[in-house]
Amino acid sequence: MSQKGNITFTMIKPGAIANEHMGSIMNMISKAGFWIAAIKFIKLSQKQAEEFYLVHKDRPFYGSLVEFMTSGPIIVAVLEKDNAVSDYRKLIGATDPSKAEDGTIRKIFAESIERNAVHGSDSNENAIIEADFFFARSERFDRII
Ligand code: GDP
Repeated sequence: MSQKGNITFTMIKPGAIANEHMGSIMNMISKAGFWIAAIKFIKLSQKQAEEFYLVHKDRPFYGSLVEFMTSGPIIVAVLEKDNAVSDYRKLIGATDPSKAEDGTIRKIFAESIERNAVHGSDSNENAIIEADFFFARSERFDRII
């Protein structure tokens, strides 16, 4: 599959799903010009969550984060756009919602620094690793127009 722009990887986290913000968040993503190249509704296993957040294993919030991320269903998706990683980080806002700019996804939908509504990759390299963690090539689709 050829990519027309760069990709980033996102998750809509359990809190935002439980509070029924899935549709509003997906709408903000599409309106901001991202093509949804792949999408699934899944529940992370303990093993998947521990592996996904392995970089944080020595942080005090690791256990709590893994517990939260396995507490309910999530959306995982691959988004395509020019400058996808940085543009999506701008759209979601700071990790801590109290520091996120007005109008960002986290400012609008996050409940706390941990329950912060969405994940967004922090580099092109990690976007590819994270997309490959969840999606086969056959589950990804090019932009139609
Ligand atoms: P991100 O790239 O903006 O998601 O931030 P990080 O990679 O630094 O952290 C990963 C995730 O861990 C965040 O999205 C939060 O869900 C959670 N997290 C980060 N910092 C904290 C913290 O200080 N306390 C708690 N409880 N959770 C945190």
